[in-house]
Amino acid sequence: MRRGGTCLLVAIVLALQSLSVAAATSPVADPAAPVQETAGGPRFDVAAATAAYLAKVPPDKKARSDAYFEGGYWLLLWDFLWTAAALVLVLRLGWSAAMRARAERLAGGLGGKLRWLGTVFYWAQLFTVITVLQFPLAVYEGYFREHKYGLATQTFGPWLGDQVKAFGVNLVMYGILLALLYAVLRRSRNWWLWGSLVSVLFLTFGALIAPVYIFPLFNTFTKLEDQAIRGPILSLARANGIAVNDVYVMDASRQTTRVGANVSGVMGTTRITLNDNLLKRCSLPEIEAVMGHEMGHYVLHHNYKGIAFLGFLIVLGFAFLRMSFDGAVRRWGMTWGVSGIGDLAGLPVLMLLLAVYFFVMTPVLNSGTRIEEAEADLFGLNAARQPDGAAEVALKLGEYRKLDPGPLEEMVFFDHPSGRSRIEMAMRFKAENLPATDPSTP
Ligand SMILES: [Zn+2]
Repeated sequence: MRRGGTCLLVAIVLALQSLSVAAATSPVADPAAPVQETAGGPRFDVAAATAAYLAKVPPDKKARSDAYFEGGYWLLLWDFLWTAAALVLVLRLGWSAAMRARAERLAGGLGGKLRWLGTVFYWAQLFTVITVLQFPLAVYEGYFREHKYGLATQTFGPWLGDQVKAFGVNLVMYGILLALLYAVLRRSRNWWLWGSLVSVLFLTFGALIAPVYIFPLFNTFTKLEDQAIRGPILSLARANGIAVNDVYVMDASRQTTRVGANVSGVMGTTRITLNDNLLKRCSLPEIEAVMGHEMGHYVLHHNYKGIAFLGFLIVLGFAFLRMSFDGAVRRWGMTWGVSGIGDLAGLPVLMLLLAVYFFVMTPVLNSGTRIEEAEADLFGLNAARQPDGAAEVALKLGEYRKLDPGPLEEMVFFDHPSGRSRIEMAMRFKAENLPATDPSTP
């Protein structure tokens, strides 16, 4: 998923809809029993069990996954700088002002009531230019890099096809959002407050329609039929008061080798989906552990809480726009041909300021998500009671997420708990749920 400024809101929408657990290869034999003698008899040693799980990953695989994940830290920066450079270019060369003039001429020919169409025309031009300017980085990040690390399954043609579809979706969705947004920006003195409200409502609308109208553009969703898997999952759902009668399977293997599952949608469209890589590569206890986690998101209403959390950040972001936009226009408006907040030609300025804001907010966004993920982990352990399954899945996720980061690194860059944190959590659950005399092993 692209993290650039232009795609940020959609990235946020999609991130929200895929509060996902994911993973890849299968590990080998189990480590020996980590048992510690205490006064009360043999006792399960959480630290030793965690270390034993982590030691199952061969050093070369660990180095590879660390390199992939740490490369992502730098991509955050390159994405931000690249996007910022593209936006500044569009402003400095006067392209934004020219696009605005062309769009308003076009819309003007259609009559005054169709002013919103001018916004859509402008957006179509700007988004096309920005997408072209960002394309080299997008190809590296989304295609070559994913293949280099063995995470991608698509050849270039189908990959490009998905990019074109995503372009179409963003063109339409942002076109609607911007038409609404500019209507507000032009009318109200408190544009930042009304603007953030429109954005949050739109985010909710996006979360509502995405599972039904957007995700099926990229993948095929079927109902899980295999009774040996469906039975235990639905039983787990019933035991936790979840009113679902179906579990969906997504053909994620079309794009990726990653194992995953997610809860998506809000209100009537909420559903639990697992991907076909998960079905193919994981044992039933592992699948149950993952499903317990996803049900945690569902029961704990994480989609709604996620919207509330993002809503708060969006209001704050618009407040930042309110403080910074006028100053930027006073200083550079003449050069850029931007007259004020209601001027379409100023959209790249707003995007640039929002890109700065969300770049700085990366640790906050990641931590908000990671805290929910840890809650879902705990819920999943209690619901599925498969700590070893959970630990095995955490190792599989370690194929593309650094397994054992430092605490600060985890806080800043991780939107899910690290493999070490998850395994430790699972082993602690195991220790506290075992009779003191039972030295059961991972
Ligand atoms: Zn999750």
